Amino acid sequence: MTTEEDVLTSLDHYEHAVIRVAGEFRAHDAPVEPRHVRLDDLDSIVVDYGTAGQCRTYSLGGLPAVASVEEAIVELTDLLQEKVLEAGDTAWPGCLPGHRHPPSARLVSGAAVWTCPEHGTTLARLG
Ligand SMILES: [Zn+2]
Repeated sequence: MTTEEDVLTSLDHYEHAVIRVAGEFRAHDAPVEPRHVRLDDLDSIVVDYGTAGQCRTYSLGGLPAVASVEEAIVELTDLLQEKVLEAGDTAWPGCLPGHRHPPSARLVSGAAVWTCPEHGTTLARLG
């Protein structure tokens, strides 16, 4: 069960995470970028994101309760990576050489990392 306190603690983690995820997306030339996180009318956590260079924002939710900033980075990245893939960059931000699938955001030993979904290899630190 998710209590109100869990939601507020999670929101705090997401607020820190969104800055690092935005940096990660910019570093890899993603066509979308997260702007900020907030509670919607139903007290569910949503992320507002936009297309690089445009003011218009879109929202995605509801993000699950998380216990750490690293976990929040994985959840945000996973959600927004879908939007990058839909925009046509189908392997973003790139897996191992020769792999045509996108890498997956995972929590490994408490840290947010990119991993190869086929080999399970850790590729790089995320955020
Ligand atoms: Zn791979």
